[in-house]
Amino acid sequence: MRAALRRQFGRARWALRVSEAAPRPRCVGPGSVPSPRCWSCGGALSGADAAPHFCPRCRALQPPAPRPDLFRLMECERSFRVDAQRLQRRFRSLQRALHPDRFGRRPPKEQHYSEQHSSLINKAYQTLLHPLSRGLYLLELNGVEPAQETDCDADSEFLTEIMEINEKLAEPENDEILAEIETLIKDRQEELTKEVTAAFERDDLQEAKKLLAKMKYFANLEDKLKNKKIPS
Ligand SMILES: [Zn+2]
Repeated sequence: MRAALRRQFGRARWALRVSEAAPRPRCVGPGSVPSPRCWSCGGALSGADAAPHFCPRCRALQPPAPRPDLFRLMECERSFRVDAQRLQRRFRSLQRALHPDRFGRRPPKEQHYSEQHSSLINKAYQTLLHPLSRGLYLLELNGVEPAQETDCDADSEFLTEIMEINEKLAEPENDEILAEIETLIKDRQEELTKEVTAAFERDDLQEAKKLLAKMKYFANLEDKLKNKKIPS
């Protein structure tokens, strides 16, 4: 009896999970979406795209897509390896084209869209530029839950290393020690970036997730170090 109940309960929970994961009905499937129209003149727009666009008829700036793929927005391949120079070029050209200053004489709605685009472009650039945020975003795109610091709890050698650096940081200020810690953090971040690159390249997302959790520790140490270096 109890076993049967448990089975049933298990099934119900499973069903719940499935329904949660099921795609939302009918509003996202290709083909079923009416083609987008310009908010200003009502003219048809050529399909949804991650890139910011203007109406071909009245040239009004259109609102950003709700959750654009940041790699597509920045015209980068969806990969952990990014061409930083290319990313920066794209960032600058988008920033120029969509800067709110350019929309000062346009209707308030367009001014508002240009602000939205600008902050999205900044977010995309920052996310893809830094290895940690880029890796976490790639995991998210692949449906992997975000890395937690507890993901490295099993690695006691690693935790000891972090603890030792933390202890050094807590010591009274000493420029020599701070410079030493800074180099150490930089080296370890570079090593981890190489390891994460390799993990993504062999599609080992779980390993990438673990390594990114370690990177988070070093990012926190980096913040602490920066705070110590700011003269109070
Ligand atoms: Zn229009």
